[in-house]
Amino acid sequence: MIYLDYAATAPLSDVARTAWLEATQVRGNASAIHSAGRASRSILEDAREKIAGLLGVDSAEVIFTSGGTEADNLAIAGPATKGRVLYSAIEHPAVREAAEIAAKAGSRAGAIPVTPDGVVDLGALREMLDESVGVVSVMAANNETGIIQSLEEIKEVVTERAPNARLHTDAVQAIGSVTIPGGFAISISGHKLGAPVGIGALIASRDYPLVPLEGGGGQERKVRSGTINVAGAVALAAALEDASEHRAERAEFQTSFSNQIVEASGALDGYVSGGDVPRLPHMTHVIFPGTDPEALLLGLDMAGIACSTGSACSAGVYRPSAVLEAMGVEEDTYTALRFSTGEYTTQSDIDALVAALPGAVSMARKAARA
Ligand code: PLP
Repeated sequence: MIYLDYAATAPLSDVARTAWLEATQVRGNASAIHSAGRASRSILEDAREKIAGLLGVDSAEVIFTSGGTEADNLAIAGPATKGRVLYSAIEHPAVREAAEIAAKAGSRAGAIPVTPDGVVDLGALREMLDESVGVVSVMAANNETGIIQSLEEIKEVVTERAPNARLHTDAVQAIGSVTIPGGFAISISGHKLGAPVGIGALIASRDYPLVPLEGGGGQERKVRSGTINVAGAVALAAALEDASEHRAERAEFQTSFSNQIVEASGALDGYVSGGDVPRLPHMTHVIFPGTDPEALLLGLDMAGIACSTGSACSAGVYRPSAVLEAMGVEEDTYTALRFSTGEYTTQSDIDALVAALPGAVSMARKAARA
């Protein structure tokens, strides 16, 4: 299997596996006061400090969660009790639906449009801002297109126009590749970095308004209950450290892989969505006009290639993704494919994809005409 779907979930990395296994040898509930509990607490707090150090925040700002979804929901629910929720039209459902839940509970929420380039429309954002805004949530980079948002510019506009607004960014895809400016609450997730599924964190300053999503022991800053996943936290810290240490070198080979995918797709009339804007190095999103999505995916699957499509399949009918719709991409029939690479992707994986694409695309074009 040629695995080009790191953005969906990355394989467990050697660094994270070693850290996780070592941490599982430490027995004890991190909230217990006996020595086993204290030993567990100690490695948990080391992990918290490591993450805080890597992100340039105070360790008290790191709240461990079960993953990105929970971090996003926590980030929206609190500020929603204080004012309007604004989120970009291309947010992951974890943010979008958290805003919708808040709206059902009586808060006001609104989606900030994006330009055809795939970035937040700063003029439209400016118009939506005033003193009633409680939070503005814009993802650091999109999970389908890999397009990176200009968080500095967004921060500037929000600070100027909405003095009461908190800033949140879903950095689940971006962390490890993008530096997040200060002033944002940040959602991260372990399994996108090579740590196990089931661990993530919300980075939120002490005065960020938080409300518990569930009742319980309040283990994490009195807002996140449940016995803490210590080994997961240790693995997350190790994975984040590894990503930071190897950032430049991985970006280099991932950019080369991405360029090769774009070139091979271009020869088949495939094109990259959005404008000439910064993108995550590990993600390549290509639209193949005139192709039948099912046939294209099947063709690549037959060649042993795992990648993702941004289109949702509803009642057997593929629909354009909400992200592409928000960007105004108009095609009658097309497949949008996301290829995402990582630590273990090799040149021969990319060679195999490049070799398989022409046959799969031609089959999918025939299927679309049939
Ligand atoms: N946010 C983004 C941008 C994502 O890509 C994902 C997962 O695909 C999530 C949030 C959800 O993260 P998790 O799977 O850790 O809950």
